[in-house]
Amino acid sequence: MTGKRLILMGPPGGGKGTQAKLLKDAYGIIQLSTGDMLRAAVAAGTELGKQAKEIMDAGHLVSDEIMVGMISERLDQPDCANGFILDGFPRTVAQAESLAAMLQDKGVELDSVIEIRVPDQNLVDRITGRFTCSKCGEGYHDTFKLPKVADTCDACGSSEFTRRDDDNAETVKSRLKAYHGQTAPLLPFYESKGLLAVVDGDQDMSAVTTEIKRVLDS
Ligand code: ADP
Ligand code: ADP
Ligand code: ZN
Repeated sequence: MTGKRLILMGPPGGGKGTQAKLLKDAYGIIQLSTGDMLRAAVAAGTELGKQAKEIMDAGHLVSDEIMVGMISERLDQPDCANGFILDGFPRTVAQAESLAAMLQDKGVELDSVIEIRVPDQNLVDRITGRFTCSKCGEGYHDTFKLPKVADTCDACGSSEFTRRDDDNAETVKSRLKAYHGQTAPLLPFYESKGLLAVVDGDQDMSAVTTEIKRVLDS
């Protein structure tokens, strides 16, 4: 059996990364987070990273050309052959159209597009409380998901954590504006193709996972 190919959509802080990490192990597929790829480029100090940093800190979207190039190269790697979870891509209609062309070229089809729906008023708390293990990338939250042992990553035992530069209340506003203006229009696009499923993201992480698995297994 070949693995699933899916897109996780949803607002900044909606729980895409959290769910992608749980699903990738359950389905034996990989997570492709364009946000993580961009942050890796920023950390490595590449030319692309330097350009992207300013845009990300302002809460705007990096150009379609850069993002499409990045994903296209990534999807050619052998570890994508058994399936993938796109987390944070596509974010514009142009990106969605390019993705459709790429997948057609490769002769593969998407299984589903899952929208994790969370009301805007919850997202500022989600985002300002977010932190991540510096070593393994496991995600945490000041209120909703603290490490089981204080200051120690559940997954790898590291005691080093990081917070994103763009996870502040001001930047959240422009990120939400970008989501509603440029990314939300993709929802009807995928709905018209019969691919869209909506999941209630305003509940416990494990309840969200259960709902997503129900969609994928149906
Ligand atoms: P979030 O947690 O807000 O969903 P991500 O980690 O997915 O954030 O993305 C962080 C930032 O990286 C975005 O605000 C944007 O500047 C940039 N970015 C990530 N993916 C894309 C994309 N597909 N198109 C354009 N910009 C992107
Ligand atoms: P995204 O990738 O969509 O930006 P994340 O998965 O990073 O979102 O989640 C944002 C923050 O909210 C993280 O700190 C995460 O631990 C927390 N979180 C994720 N899902 C839930 C949930 N269902 N309930 C409460 N907090 C959550
Ligand atoms: Zn860790």
